Amino acid sequence: MSMGLGMQTSRPVQSHVLSVDRYRCLFCLRDIDLEEAGLRLAVRSPALQSMRWARSMQGEEYGKGHVGSLTPSEYAQLGQSELEPLLVRYASHHNFDVRFSIELVGVERAAEYIGTVQDLISKSTFKIRSPYFFGADEARSHVAHSLKFNFISKPTAAKACNVLLRADLSHIMNKERHSDLSWILKPDRTTFPGLVVHLRVVRPWKEWVLVAFGTDGTDKFRGLTTESPELIDCVRETLGDDSIYVEILRIDPWSVRHSVAEEYSLDDANLFLGDVAHRHPPAFGLGSNTCVQDAYNLAWKAAFVAKGLAGRGLLDSYSKERQPVGAMLVHESNSGIKAQFKVCESGGMMASTQEEGKGQLAVLSADTPQGEASRVQLREAMDRAALAGGPILNVQVSTYPGSRLPHAWLDVPTRQKMISTHDLAGKGAFCLLLGIGGLAIGFGLDYVDFFYTLQTVLSSLSSG
Ligand SMILES: Cc1cc2nc3c(=O)[nH]c(=O)nc-3n(C[C@H](O)[C@H](O)[C@H](O)COP(=O)(O)OP(=O)(O)OC[C@H]3O[C@@H](n4cnc5c(N)ncnc54)[C@H](O)[C@@H]3O)c2cc1C
Repeated sequence: MSMGLGMQTSRPVQSHVLSVDRYRCLFCLRDIDLEEAGLRLAVRSPALQSMRWARSMQGEEYGKGHVGSLTPSEYAQLGQSELEPLLVRYASHHNFDVRFSIELVGVERAAEYIGTVQDLISKSTFKIRSPYFFGADEARSHVAHSLKFNFISKPTAAKACNVLLRADLSHIMNKERHSDLSWILKPDRTTFPGLVVHLRVVRPWKEWVLVAFGTDGTDKFRGLTTESPELIDCVRETLGDDSIYVEILRIDPWSVRHSVAEEYSLDDANLFLGDVAHRHPPAFGLGSNTCVQDAYNLAWKAAFVAKGLAGRGLLDSYSKERQPVGAMLVHESNSGIKAQFKVCESGGMMASTQEEGKGQLAVLSADTPQGEASRVQLREAMDRAALAGGPILNVQVSTYPGSRLPHAWLDVPTRQKMISTHDLAGKGAFCLLLGIGGLAIGFGLDYVDFFYTLQTVLSSLSSG
């Protein structure tokens, strides 16, 4: 049974404002034939594969970085508010019992797991007995706390705030300015001095999330409401236009975290996934992507064990395969935030006074050795922040058990339609890929590697 307090309703969870499913999650939906349905609800544009740094939304631009494609799936933004109903509909159409408005209030381990659950409508309490217990109850997890999972954590004090807003910027968002994220470098801002903000598009180019960090680690919007005039002024200064009509829809403060579970499983029967297991800032937008992939890894194994097709030992591989991914994400996303702050520093945003910050920004245009050094520093900081050379974009291609099958485009010999190696596998079954002399992919065989992409991928690996 799958249970929850309610989709998007019961608790003010900030990540629900905008949680974008992107290039690493759609291939999971592809496996259960939901990719097309997801794409119909998504925002699709190659422009979303970039981030930029500018003085305001229509001010001088300092740089732009692009992210390449990594899987057969398109890069798209699919908000949690669209994805969740899609998954719930799929689950309920496939005989899963999905219940809302019930809250897990206790869990204990005896011969089996016993969860105590409260119905929030009838106020009645009941118990659920199960040989398995999967905890996916977000970062404040009751399950992780009750069953005493250990976490590897680093202290972080930084606070941030998300502001969901409507502002029609169609007239200023010409093609060249299109991007997913725009970081604003304006050391001489008049509203909220010492604030670092970026704008992220939700619905091009009319709905946005403004994400604000205080350079001193505090939430500068604390105590404000959606009606606060100073907030509207701050948004307008970020846009670079005082005349734009701005409507604030929602404000959600949040904290930067650095925490990952030591193990994702206690005894192959209590496993957990998602934000319960990895807590980190949203840099690179990989949180729910990773949650979906945790579920993708666990679901088929749980199904095989439950159907008696595999022993319980199969579940043992879940933590081994997913914990290192979560640990890497926690590390990299925190480094990503630091890298962004380096860009901000180069743009004068971390200076102790506005005058000093303006001076640092001005140096960037100076025809002096100091100006040249500042430009190099800014460029390098932007490259790091846009992930150039980092492990997030450099996919580790491997055929080692537990690794994702390398993606390569194939076709049948008479050229009907390109398909990915991923399309040949998956769907809850095992698939053995063979070719000439060991390889059904090759000349005269079922599928042909027309662009030698598979060969290139495989030749980069050691034989076997
Ligand atoms: C500002 C911000 C921006 C983000 N942007 C992105 C992005 O661009 N891309 C991306 O991939 N990710 C992003 N994320 C991360 C993403 O939102 C989370 O990683 C993801 O939502 C976590 O999914 P989850 O299922 O683990 O937890 P949740 O989505 O939090 O779901 C947990 C569910 O458990 C329920 N629950 C909790 N306690 C109980 C209980 N006791 N009993 C019953 N039910 C319970 C809750 O009601 C909720 O429905 C962002 C996060 C933030 C904060």
